[in-house]
Amino acid sequence: MDIASRLVITPPMYFEEPASKCGYCKGEKAPADAFSLNSWAQESLEDGNSVRNSTLGFQCENLTVEMYDSLCNRGFRRSGRFLYKPDLLRTCCRLYTIRTTPEQMHPSKEYRSCVRRFCKLAGAPQTPSQPFDYIRELTAALADDSCRLTTRFEPATYTEEKYALFAKYQEEVHADFKHNKRSFERFLCDSPFPDEVQQGTSEEWAQLNAVSSGDCEGGPTDLLRLGPAHECYYLDGTLIAVAVTDFLPSGLSSVYFIWDPAFRRWSLGKVSAMRELALLSRTTRPYYYLGYYVEDCPKMNYKAAYGGELLDVTAARYYPLDELRKQGALDHGHLFAYSGEDDHGERERELDGLLGLDSYERCDVGEDSGLRNVAEEVYGAHGAIAQNQQDYASVVETLQKYGIDYSYDDYAQLYGQSDSDSPEGIRPLPNVVPGMLPLHELLSMVESNRMNQLNGSLLIYDTQMLRIRPVFDFYTEPESIKTALCNVVRVLGLRLAKRTLVII
Ligand SMILES: [Zn+2]
Repeated sequence: MDIASRLVITPPMYFEEPASKCGYCKGEKAPADAFSLNSWAQESLEDGNSVRNSTLGFQCENLTVEMYDSLCNRGFRRSGRFLYKPDLLRTCCRLYTIRTTPEQMHPSKEYRSCVRRFCKLAGAPQTPSQPFDYIRELTAALADDSCRLTTRFEPATYTEEKYALFAKYQEEVHADFKHNKRSFERFLCDSPFPDEVQQGTSEEWAQLNAVSSGDCEGGPTDLLRLGPAHECYYLDGTLIAVAVTDFLPSGLSSVYFIWDPAFRRWSLGKVSAMRELALLSRTTRPYYYLGYYVEDCPKMNYKAAYGGELLDVTAARYYPLDELRKQGALDHGHLFAYSGEDDHGERERELDGLLGLDSYERCDVGEDSGLRNVAEEVYGAHGAIAQNQQDYASVVETLQKYGIDYSYDDYAQLYGQSDSDSPEGIRPLPNVVPGMLPLHELLSMVESNRMNQLNGSLLIYDTQMLRIRPVFDFYTEPESIKTALCNVVRVLGLRLAKRTLVII
């Protein structure tokens, strides 16, 4: 297995900073809503505890699109070459992965007027549909010769023109003046995909641009393009917007969108999302990934307008957003975790088998679904984890006997005191993070010799010796390496860990 087909990463890290640094709530939401669950809000507010902004992530030097697809479906996103996911239990905002499909988008009146205003401003003839069909109207408008706006997909590479647009957008829309060419490049051009994937072939780009403009015959097209892309929007030949996207085997992931503030009336953000959905509707790839959804953040909950489903990282499956709302699972932006009748939320769910799945199914959570929200029962201040602290202590002790350097962290102290004063920092991975392999599952892997599956498959780049070597025997590795490998397995699952090169 060559390096280009491996996941090349630093060991997973855990970052904490004051909630005031959170880009979504800025630490300003009602304290009771910042805690992940009611029980924690009640406990912690009495004790004067508060919430921090907590993220898990790693630097990534190489990644295949298939691996990234799979990581997106476990709650990860990328920013340049950095892959991260929020700790849904501890952080101030519940950032749920949201995906939708072209059929799930039912444009509201606002979106219908957006489409029609856009067509008018672009000088394209109106082709009203009844019932309203956003895919048909947008495609017809852009295909018409009189349309002043054209778009083109191309490799996600740096140009002066793109940076000038980014600078204008950041300054006027986000009041951010701290950008420079390199920060733009790192954020919206760099990616951990292999060079040839970043570049693509002329055949791929030609087919993508043809399908995007609606120029494709017959049934859904089997798209060739996989990997990052910039879709450039030109008005009479001038660049006025860039959509940054990743083409994945299961669909299209929207990364970022920059637009010229002089064209605010054009609602280019909404139009570009609908255009990307229209593109998908002509391909065999089903899902449109919109990044994170935050129920109690206006900057993020607009995504509900596209319909869709949210990821439950504790069960590796998706639930329809409108059903979750009906069930009250998203009230106060709290944590949800659904479980079946056979399982009463007595402990954290084992995940390794689920992480090996290639696609995550959609489940209903309505009355007849047999599923119920067990977030309080498992993760709450009086839930299974809190009740079984002795078990966790003994699991940690046994892991230590195997030379795995984990320490006991008191679940009752999930939320610490004095948030605002403590600086940001990197700390060890907590023992409980939703979506990460539970400690008892890790221990059973260690005790049953399953960790030997890493031998000869997981590679280590030893930064002291400056050489790459495989794991020879997991059990005789030095303690620091064994611990780092356990963290990799807890975050990625055994199957993906076996295809990883860890830089230690
Ligand atoms: Zn927040």
